[in-house]
Amino acid sequence: MRMTTTIVGRSAKPRSLTIRRARNRHGIQPALSLAIVLAVALFPITTARAAQLRAGVAKVDVTNTEAGPVNDPLYAKALVLKNDTTTAVIVTVDAVAIGEIGPIKNDYLPQVRSQLQQELNVPATNVLVNASHCHGAVCADVAERTVQAVKQAHENMVPVNVGAGVGHEDRIMENRRLKLTSGREADVRHAYALPPDEAVAAVGPVDPEIGILRLDRQNGQTLAVVYNFACHPIQGVPSGGTTADLAGFASTAIEASLGEGAIAVFLQGCAGDVNPVLYKDVANPRDAEPLGNMLGLSTIKALNGIESSDNGELRVIQETLELPRADLAGRISAMEAEQARLLQSLKGTSLNLKTFIPLVVKYGVSPEFPSYYSHRYLHEKMMGRDHLARLDAENRGNMERYIHNVHVMEELTRLQTNLNLLEKHQATNAAAEKRTIDVELVGMRIGDFVLVSFPGELTVQIGLNIKRDSPHDLTFVAGCSNGYIYYAPTAEQLKNVGGAQEDSDCLLAPEWQKLYEQSVAEMLKKL
Ligand SMILES: [Zn+2]
Repeated sequence: MRMTTTIVGRSAKPRSLTIRRARNRHGIQPALSLAIVLAVALFPITTARAAQLRAGVAKVDVTNTEAGPVNDPLYAKALVLKNDTTTAVIVTVDAVAIGEIGPIKNDYLPQVRSQLQQELNVPATNVLVNASHCHGAVCADVAERTVQAVKQAHENMVPVNVGAGVGHEDRIMENRRLKLTSGREADVRHAYALPPDEAVAAVGPVDPEIGILRLDRQNGQTLAVVYNFACHPIQGVPSGGTTADLAGFASTAIEASLGEGAIAVFLQGCAGDVNPVLYKDVANPRDAEPLGNMLGLSTIKALNGIESSDNGELRVIQETLELPRADLAGRISAMEAEQARLLQSLKGTSLNLKTFIPLVVKYGVSPEFPSYYSHRYLHEKMMGRDHLARLDAENRGNMERYIHNVHVMEELTRLQTNLNLLEKHQATNAAAEKRTIDVELVGMRIGDFVLVSFPGELTVQIGLNIKRDSPHDLTFVAGCSNGYIYYAPTAEQLKNVGGAQEDSDCLLAPEWQKLYEQSVAEMLKKL
């Protein structure tokens, strides 16, 4: 595997001790924290502090207003960070992906980068562009508007203090992969029906952590907040209009709370298998606003506990990693065989939808006497006849077969959607020039806030693994960044290929996970 690495902004100055972590992942005891405070207070820090960090932030509306009704605007938001040696740019766009799918085309990132290089002398390697992954319609000139946001941010840079920490939100999301009693997994989608309740054995994990970077002006006012959270922003709004979804509502709440022109920059995390809660609700209009407000308020709550300091260290690492492409041929034939088996399993039944539904109601309301009032059953019994009982047995047999057929239809729908995706990606992989895919990884340190990225939809376990194994307390992972190569489920999840959409909407062979996690581990050591 070839790997190219660019490291910029590595400072020879070691970081000073810090006491501003909102939460310590390794569980340092309060007494030890106090000892650190005393040590810092009693012994002068001999190492030089990192150079003063400057930052500017701006947002530009990128909503496509001609694509239908708009509920709330989509933005490109830019944060520019600069010290003596390094300039870094973080952009978030309210869009589904940076290239490949949706309205942002593949020339977007190179265009934005070359303009930033030419006009602001910012190296391409130091630009991180994250898609919030909301499904709104972005305007055609989104690249120009992104550059405009970065230029505005660049023009308005001020000296900043830096603080980092974590917040907690566990009410608004759920893992959308269902572990089935069969040992396989299915997923919660609008594209198809869920498996029957009795087939569901367990659910997967979520990551309730909100990763937070706060940049304060020297008068103490907050200039910008970067926050990282893992959840698909796909709840929508009751009107059906374009929306930045829960990330948009959360950012609006944070910005309104902070005032003074502060801007909240959302970075999508490892949300590959994380849905908003109540995603399949058919009783209430689905609404991202309350969910986004909860995320925003949880972020604000955490912000209040973060202290900032002038230790504005800034490092950026950029790498290209080659990841192996999947060969899906075996899985495709297995799914085609399964499709044929399911078709063959359909059973003859006298009922159709019109006769089936009233029977479901009658046999549900009165299981003992479904076909008529009880006295008729009692009368038949007294006369030594069983005609109603025979009718009920016949109806129940037909209903059972009808329900079986409905479940087969639902399974065929899931299978067909996933088979189509597998065939599409198998064709892409077969036509590719090489058996690997180049993916761009970015690592950034801003003060104590450490971020690594991936150009696809990492599932949540990947983020949890990286955070668990990182040598840095405040490590966060941004998916959907600097490109888009579809889903990136774990090797374990990929054993289920074809069963859930993340496993089918994927170009990668299972070995990808180890290679990525190893690269990230190396990157984190350098950060
Ligand atoms: Zn997605």
